[in-house]
Amino acid sequence: MGIEQLLILIKPDGLKKSLTGNILTKLSEARMLIIGAKAVKVNEELAKAHYQQLKDKPFFGELIDYIQGKIYGEPWDRVMAFVYQGEDAIARMRKIAGATNPEEADPVSIRGAYGRITTKGVYENVVHCSSDPLEAQREIKLWFKPEEVVMPIYPTKKVIVEKEEKEVWA
Ligand code: UDP
Ligand code: MG
Repeated sequence: MGIEQLLILIKPDGLKKSLTGNILTKLSEARMLIIGAKAVKVNEELAKAHYQQLKDKPFFGELIDYIQGKIYGEPWDRVMAFVYQGEDAIARMRKIAGATNPEEADPVSIRGAYGRITTKGVYENVVHCSSDPLEAQREIKLWFKPEEVVMPIYPTKKVIVEKEEKEVWA
């Protein structure tokens, strides 16, 4: 309990179904702060790291393709990533998101209203929502750099990086 942060993703099916606005509206009922937000093209490395706990599940391969939007292709092969902060944020946001299986989810939850099960058996449930504070911290650090979050939430350190090639505006 107390103030918590969590990672929320609008998965590729949520973007393809044009649900970004609907999802953010439902989430906004919890009156929490968005402290980080961006669009991300998910590569295989990030997908596998994100779902590392599920690597032995029979649906892992399908899940990795799903979160990368491979089944939809351009321009739906991306996600919207958000860091939310608020009181008891994880439990409250997971309640708004609904149960993992969209057929079992409360019909007025995000997953209950908008999710489906594919013919291959993957739960296309339109959002990801961190499940506990430790997982949330791991996921936020995986998806966001410290400077992409507008409030200091975890300790940081300064490092000197030499000869690092990086893209800047021309
Ligand atoms: N998933 C699935 N089949 C399952 C369990 C999970 O397709 O039997 C997918 C679903 O998209 C889910 C994701 O794998 O959101 C991660 O599973 P997890 O158990 O962590 O559920 P969540 O935390 O997303 O509710
Ligand atoms: Mg989970």
